Order: sequence, then C-alpha cells, then structure tokens
Amino acid sequence: MLTAAMVRAMTIPVHVLIVAGGKGLRLGGNRPKQYALAGGAPLLRHAVLAFLNHPRITSCQVVHGPGQEAACISALVGLEGLRPFAAGGAERQDSVRNGLEALAAIAQSDDIVLVHDAARPFPPSNLVDRAIGAIEAGAIAAIPVLPVIDSLKRLDAEGMVLHSVERAGLGRVQTPQAFRFGPLLAAHRAFAGANLGDDAGVMEQAGQTIATFQGAEEAFKVTTEADLKRAQAHASAGPDIRSGTGFDVHRLGAGDGVHLCGHFIPWTQTLIGHSDADVGWHALTDAILGAIAAGDIGSHFPPTDLRWKGADSAIFLAEAARLVAERGGRILNCDVTLICERPKIGPHRAAMRARTAEVLGISEDRVSIKATTTEELGFTGRGEGIAAQAIATVLL
Ligand code: MG
Repeated sequence: MLTAAMVRAMTIPVHVLIVAGGKGLRLGGNRPKQYALAGGAPLLRHAVLAFLNHPRITSCQVVHGPGQEAACISALVGLEGLRPFAAGGAERQDSVRNGLEALAAIAQSDDIVLVHDAARPFPPSNLVDRAIGAIEAGAIAAIPVLPVIDSLKRLDAEGMVLHSVERAGLGRVQTPQAFRFGPLLAAHRAFAGANLGDDAGVMEQAGQTIATFQGAEEAFKVTTEADLKRAQAHASAGPDIRSGTGFDVHRLGAGDGVHLCGHFIPWTQTLIGHSDADVGWHALTDAILGAIAAGDIGSHFPPTDLRWKGADSAIFLAEAARLVAERGGRILNCDVTLICERPKIGPHRAAMRARTAEVLGISEDRVSIKATTTEELGFTGRGEGIAAQAIATVLL
C-alpha cells in the first residue's frame, strides 16, 4: 500500500549528471577511455543507457570533455531523453560544476542529483536504487563504497614496503554519488578550482556529512586494458534471462470457498493448508524463487512458523518479487496452470490476472492464468485436491 509520503518521495525529480570529460588513458587506440568500445558501443553510451533505462531518472545531463563534442554526439546518437550536452573544463571538478550549472535551469534545490563517471559503464539498477534511497532516507550526500579486500602497504619511492596499512575502516568509493541538488551546486560554486577530487570531497570541504551505501562490483571503473576486456565480456554476455518452475497441491475439504491466485471463489469446499492455501500463488512463488535460485516457499516461510497461519499468500508472492528486485532483476512474465475439475476458473480468470499483476508490480499482459482438468482421473479428477504448476521468467 502506497502512503501519501511515499507518493511524494517518488515524485522528487532525480537528475543524473554523467561526466565524460576525461582525457583518460588511451585505450583501444587513440581515444579517451569513455569512447572505447564494448559490445560495439562506447562505454559512455552504456553508462547513459543504464540511467535512461531506470524508471526513477527524470533527466540526464552529459558533460563532454573540451573538444570532444563531436565524439559525444556520435557516441549517443539516437538516444532520446538527453538534455543538451554541457562542455567540461580542465579538471573533473570543473566539468561537474559546468554540468550542475546546466542542470540549474530545471533542477530545484531539493531535487536529487546523481553524479556518475562515464568510465563506469555498467551501474546496476539496484545500485541506482540505493543511491536514490540514501538521499530519500535523509542524507544530503551519499556515496557507494565496497570493502577493501586486498591487504594494503605503504611503499617508498623505490617500491619497498614502508609499513602495512590497516584495512578496517577503509572503503573503495564508486559512482554514482548522490546528493541534494542545491547543497552540491553551492559547494561546487564555493570551491571552484580547488581540485578536491570527487564530489564527496567537495561536499566534505563544504562541511557536509557524507553517508555511504553499498556499492556494486558490476559498477567497476575502466582504467586499464584488463578492465576494458572485462567491460567487453560484460557487454557481449547478452541479457541474463532466467526461468523457474513451481508445483503445488492442496487438499480440499468442506468449507465456504477457495483462494486461487489471490481471488476468493465462494464454494462448498475449501483448500486446506497452513496459510490461505492459495495453491496457484504457491506454485508461482516457487517458480519465481526458482528463477533466481533463492530456495523455495517453505525455506522462506516455514509452515511450522505460526506467523503464516492463515496468512494471505500475497505476502509470499510479494517477497519473491522483492527478492528479484533486490538482485536488480525484473519479472518478464509468468504462466500458471490450475488443475482441477471444479470450481470453474474461466469466470474468475480476469480477476486473478489483475490481482497477480498488481502484487508482482508488472503489467497484466505479462501474467497468464490457465486451467485444465485431468478428465476426472487421479486426485484432482476425484476432487480430493487442487494442483497448480507455474513458470516464471526473470531478467537479471
Ligand atoms: Mg502450498
């Protein structure tokens, strides 16, 4: 259920500023790294697409390097929804400031702005979610960090070890970094030319507290030839599409009706089970969990747990959908077959599809619900129980 506060939060514009101003290391020939190709497209284009494809992004401002306008236009040809490009300056900080000044034409102080390096071509959508979420949770500035895994040493000029550096408390900082627009613009104006490194550094100088959120290995930065090879492998991997199946049976007994795919059908029988015994949604929940290899409904909601006694199976289905979203994925489609002689499913199919689509947060044309009998054979044929099978497809 959406509260008024959630609806208000969701309407806050989220701008992304993509910084492609770097002269960078020359990778893949004589061009700046943001124009190096992976999967036939420049890294900059991959980075821009990652944000254009994110439902929360309301505007996208690209800043190109001095003299790189033509390369930028060619890299982003055909993409819709981009603001006119801004020209960068001598240092990254100058480029970001120019981009923020360009955004100031449309951005309000309370808007969220994400600043992202074009040399990180594959920021996953759940990383973007976390960036936005950190500001919505009250931070003025928030940055993605990953733990330092390798041990650290301080070296002298000859490469000899001076001493070990304690890893605890250190983090690897990535982009997108997230800010309230007004404070970030003010900090950049106040410290123009100070060359403070990243935007968090500028905000730090302005006395702002910087929060952190979990980074993502997929948002790696392309700096070396090895990184570029990794980006090329990533780009050519194709879409990561997974599918899973589910099957469930519940026994029938005397009662006042059955819950099937979120819809109650009054009847002289009921399905017996620990929860509401919605056999269709149980099969579908297992199919979704199967697609992301996340166990089964019993491992998430043990029937021994009293919390799930009589529970609305929407809880189980919504949790499976949430786990998909948490992995940065989305459900492409699902298909449920209910196996019974009675009740007749046809008159209720539309209501079942609508409710299933609502709980999964997908459109109805991605939800199929079918029914079959077993020609009066077996336990479903004898009316002893109802069975259901399902398949779900997920794009990660
Ligand atoms: Mg069940």
